[in-house]
Amino acid sequence: MEKSKTIVEAILQAKKCVITSHKSPDGDSIGSSLALYHFIHALGKEATICHPDEAPGFLKWMQGADQIHSFEMEPEFVVNELVTADLIFCLDYNSADRVGKDLQSVLEQATAQKIMIDHHLNPSDLCSIVVSETSVCSTAQLIFELIDHSGNLSLLNEPIAEAVYLGIMTDTGSFRFPSVQARTHEIAAKLIQAGLKHHQIHENVFDTNTLDRLRLRGYVMSERLEIIPDYPIAIISVTDEELQRFNHVKGDTEGLVNVALSIEGIKVAAFFSEKNGEVKISFRSKGAYEVNVLAHDHFDGGGHKYAAGGINYASLLETVEKFKSVVPTYF
Ligand code: 5GP
Ligand code: MN
Repeated sequence: MEKSKTIVEAILQAKKCVITSHKSPDGDSIGSSLALYHFIHALGKEATICHPDEAPGFLKWMQGADQIHSFEMEPEFVVNELVTADLIFCLDYNSADRVGKDLQSVLEQATAQKIMIDHHLNPSDLCSIVVSETSVCSTAQLIFELIDHSGNLSLLNEPIAEAVYLGIMTDTGSFRFPSVQARTHEIAAKLIQAGLKHHQIHENVFDTNTLDRLRLRGYVMSERLEIIPDYPIAIISVTDEELQRFNHVKGDTEGLVNVALSIEGIKVAAFFSEKNGEVKISFRSKGAYEVNVLAHDHFDGGGHKYAAGGINYASLLETVEKFKSVVPTYF
């Protein structure tokens, strides 16, 4: 990463550094943010993490997670941090609209120098320094490269290792997607050498189900999973009422779309969930099937070829019908 020395220099010069990521944070937003946060501390500097939304419950155990501020919980604090910062990191997203309507203009108008580190296609011109590596599996891996290429590998410690590993693990389906490179495993080895207990991370993320969460997943698989006739496409849709029936908390439906994709012969999966009159959608695909264009064209979204998402401002039923109606155009 040729810009790594410039970026570390910017951190060392900054008076107030703020780390941002996208709405509905996933493991990579949290992992890359915490990895950079702990690295900045190891450099002897400070930073504030300001995200649009709260971290999902299943990641609250992470070292430093209690230092994540969110616009959702502390709107005034977060706006003030962005306005008064002189350095803002934009991690794991490629354009300002990904922080949500409320924060977008604050971010765009903030006078700080902005640095984007991301792995999504088509980075916007929001930031003056852009590290956009679309062939790299996760932003967390790019934070590791920043540390390594700037000559700071000696600062790698266990909290950084934990955060980098978490980001890589969650964005690669536990090291299985094609995006995993030999380098990804080299990095994992270095993280373990730095004191990482990798089995603990897997346990904390995957072996902490609540009974409600498992029952919701069982219900969804048995009652809400359907295959679109004549297409290799599986969809799941859940209503607000159904989520509430199982005392749904953030993260409970994480990964269900991949379970739909795991059906033999299925190439595309979509997951629709309703909340406050909006429908959030996750798309996954494999092989020659790509979903980011469809997400962009019809659902105000985007993402990677094989993992994309979007939103629709209509009922769940209408949203599913809309998806079914555009299927023939894309697949
Ligand atoms: P997920 O299904 O896990 O929410 O999102 C998968 C991927 O799709 C994310 O990593 C992100 O790249 C993309 N994505 C999800 N939701 C949106 C959205 O509303 N807008 C855009 N542009 N991309 C999204
Ligand atoms: Mn990511």
